[in-house]
Amino acid sequence: MTVFSHPEFDNHEHLSFFCDPETGLKAIVAIHNTSRGPALGGCRMFPYASDEEALRDVLRLSKGMTYKSALANLDLGGGKSVIIGDPRKDKSEALLEAMGKHLEGLGGQYIGAEDSGTSVPDLQVMGRHTQHVAGIVEHIAFDGQPSNGDPSPTTAYGVFVGLKAAVRHKLGREDLKGLKVAIQGVGNVGFRLARHLKDAGAELWVYDIHQDNMQRAIDELGAKAASAEDILFLPVDVVAPCAMGAVLNDDSIPRLKATVIAGAANNLLQRPDHDQALKDRGILYAPDFAINSGGIIDVFYERTGASPDEVRAHVEGIGQTLTEIFTRSEASGIATGAVANKLAEERFRARAENASESREQLAGA
Ligand code: NAD
Repeated sequence: MTVFSHPEFDNHEHLSFFCDPETGLKAIVAIHNTSRGPALGGCRMFPYASDEEALRDVLRLSKGMTYKSALANLDLGGGKSVIIGDPRKDKSEALLEAMGKHLEGLGGQYIGAEDSGTSVPDLQVMGRHTQHVAGIVEHIAFDGQPSNGDPSPTTAYGVFVGLKAAVRHKLGREDLKGLKVAIQGVGNVGFRLARHLKDAGAELWVYDIHQDNMQRAIDELGAKAASAEDILFLPVDVVAPCAMGAVLNDDSIPRLKATVIAGAANNLLQRPDHDQALKDRGILYAPDFAINSGGIIDVFYERTGASPDEVRAHVEGIGQTLTEIFTRSEASGIATGAVANKLAEERFRARAENASESREQLAGA
């Protein structure tokens, strides 16, 4: 297994491989970049087919967190951890406690959070041995409502704010009255997004593989039912993918009728060049890691104990960041995803340069 020459390595600052034979824990922690602050990212548990697959996943996800937090203007770096194992069979309190001890040993350079295969109670078990876990504390959220740590309401509000910025830029309208929106996946984020849109007067179409989730959107929000085959291709203004990644691909892009894509799901582009393919078709794509950063903003402020108004103001900044991305994309002819990557790099590299200047000044003092 290669590490430093791995195609996804991208100058990661730190990688640790942790093994605890007594509990069966095998984990990798990847810290991509800490120039803006400690690396915060989910702790995923998955039955990876090989160590190589686990390494590739953790490196890719960890780098993604650096970009997401920098773009969201948070004082956080990027990191991620993976536990190799089947969460339904291999998870135990002892294994989670061992993971907590390992995270404690990293001294706070990496802060773990819930991810696929781990839950808030799992992170609380890790938290018996470390302070370096997040998203597990009851608090008052941006909307003044009590939160158990679930960031989905804040993510949904951020996607709503971002969707409005995209509509303003592409369609030249402030008001969402009568705007036609198709939502793929009405789970924790998609349903809440649908409610914000309904309150703003939008007309909704929904599809979810779980009939009860779809029925809830139909009954409570007056949404219209769509099918698995047509949800992305309806003659609507906006498509909001809120279920899974890779839905923007060679097959789907030529068939899209909407001119705005703004949804919560991660890794929407199947390949990086699908970014340009959307631009070539005149479709405005709100990059996923820019529009869905409400969750990481929520988790960040849970640790600093900010007021709901401060959190709301920061989440509303997602709209300004997206507007900057759209404007730069238009001026340069570069697709929005590539512009978002560049803007994120500016934000974390500038911080690294400032830190090294201060170190030099201190050394010279
Ligand atoms: P969720 O599991 O609560 O909701 C996803 C919904 O999509 C479910 O209702 C599920 O039944 C449905 N679904 C799954 N496959 C589908 C398909 N093929 N077609 C239609 N519907 C399908 O998850 P969530 O927390 O709402 O997250 C949604 C997406 O947003 C995920 O990709 C997640 O990674 C991303 N995201 C979530 C957050 C957050 O705070 N929850 C933050 C950032 C990104």
